[in-house]
Amino acid sequence: TTSLEKISAWLQEYARVIGEHEAELTDLDREIGDGDHGSNMVRGMRAVAGLDLAAFGDAASYLKKTGMTLVSTVGGAAGPLYGTLFLRMAGQLGSGDALDTAAFAGALKAGVEGVTQRGKSAVGDKTMVDALVPAVECLEEQASRGAELAAALPEAAKAADAGREATAALVARRGRASYLGERSVGHIDPGAASAALLIESAARTLV
Ligand code: ADP
Ligand code: MG
Ligand code: MG
Repeated sequence: TTSLEKISAWLQEYARVIGEHEAELTDLDREIGDGDHGSNMVRGMRAVAGLDLAAFGDAASYLKKTGMTLVSTVGGAAGPLYGTLFLRMAGQLGSGDALDTAAFAGALKAGVEGVTQRGKSAVGDKTMVDALVPAVECLEEQASRGAELAAALPEAAKAADAGREATAALVARRGRASYLGERSVGHIDPGAASAALLIESAARTLV
């Protein structure tokens, strides 16, 4: 399988998983936001899942189209942020590169840096960044030890999951939830939940 086929399998799986978790994501967003994160992500990932693979020559061009599709369909804060994640991943991933742990870690890192720049957000602000950064750090650490992607991704998914769980204790400092201040404590951030699902989907497909 080519990198393009693998990345496409990942995003098809993410679209499926987002559909499965729509109500859960919306419920989380109802607690500390405006209750649309599930429907926003379902709309965007349906559009991505509908992209015709035959139209793309490599993983980078497919990731770029994915980013643009999310920007134009998701709406809300998450649209431009997830859009940036995939656009920056596309920019980092060389067309001939094999999708190994170092390549995926490097691409995801570039993507997450795009999110933190665009969102002016950092770890601890109670956003998707709290799930994504631990996943990147875990992948980098495993790349440095020469771990296979198939072994590294389940660990990265656990790190993302722990990051998602940890958002419950945090005061939101970015996005709509920040309007609630201290009242945002006790609730998991919806974007951290959808981001953890993204890494879990990778662990099931990018192997
Ligand atoms: P909206 O808040 O516009 O309704 P969504 O509900 O789709 O958009 O997405 C909300 C999620 O977006 C939040 O849970 C958070 O994870 C993420 N988010 C919002 N603002 C930022 C930001 N500045 N940086 C990083 N992530 C953010
Ligand atoms: Mg919302
Ligand atoms: Mg909204």
